[in-house]
Amino acid sequence: MAKPPDILLLTADPHQRRGWEETLQPWAVCHGPDAIAAGQGPPEVIVTDHLPVTEVPPTGPAALLRGEIGIVAVGAQGPADVSLPADYSTRELRLACQLLVQIIRLRRRRGQDHRARRALRELAFRDPLTNLPNRRTWDACLTARLDELAAHPPDTSLCVVLLDIDYFKQVNDRGGHAAGDAVLRAVAARLSQSVRAGDAVARVGGDEFALLLEALPPAAAGGVVERIRSGLAQQCVEANGTPRRVTVSAGYVTVPGGRPATADQALTAADRFLQQAKTTGRDRSTGGAMNA
Ligand code: GH3
Ligand code: MG
Repeated sequence: MAKPPDILLLTADPHQRRGWEETLQPWAVCHGPDAIAAGQGPPEVIVTDHLPVTEVPPTGPAALLRGEIGIVAVGAQGPADVSLPADYSTRELRLACQLLVQIIRLRRRRGQDHRARRALRELAFRDPLTNLPNRRTWDACLTARLDELAAHPPDTSLCVVLLDIDYFKQVNDRGGHAAGDAVLRAVAARLSQSVRAGDAVARVGGDEFALLLEALPPAAAGGVVERIRSGLAQQCVEANGTPRRVTVSAGYVTVPGGRPATADQALTAADRFLQQAKTTGRDRSTGGAMNA
């Protein structure tokens, strides 16, 4: 074993403790609860004469739950990876610790791989700055919802909204990139709070966000989108201390059920309305029904 085992001994009996120390020499062992109070990380193996183990380092409980700390119980009844009788032999205790440490190292490596893969998957589908779904997730979600909508009657409709921050380059230029990032995070948070459960919110570009609003009658869409959009305006302060109001423009399109529209068609139509909002003065929303 390349690295010596990291073992924690838990016993209130000094005689027991000396016996374990001698048996496990020359491995580095530490003792609780002092070692635990000293802020040590989770040990690989705990040798204990009482169960259940309650004195675990602050980083320990999660590791214990994941099975990433091995427990050798000596003369104690209860759940443990290895249970030895009170009259254990020194060979038994050494062998139990040695084997268990190898198993725990395998488990920890597997756990780390699993967590790294999950983090990578999250990165592929989420925007790390705002924690919103990213463009890839949005495209897949929009395509799936429009496919479903094609099978629904015309009185069900979806509203696809694109929002873009006005003069966002100036926020970066005058307040710095960090100020720009703060505005992006604030807009993202406000957007998430403004929609109903079941609606989708995504960051689809630098300063561009998208919404998929469910079950929104076309006649109500304009009012709802405008309420959401106008609530996104942010106050920020430029590097020279000048306060600045940051606004958002929106373009939306309602897609009725039964009439198939591709994600591309819906986005192109919403984007056309967004450009109209930009060219007619910004800080506003424009939109309409698809195929109208
Ligand atoms: P308009 O009103 O026409 O939208 O003008 P605008 O200045 O907002 O123009 P545009 O939407 O093209 O600007 C987007 C800017 O967003 C450009 C880019 O530097 C900035 N940007 C993109 N991603 C990020 C980011 O993650 N953080 C910050 N701070 N800025 C970003
Ligand atoms: Mg912009």
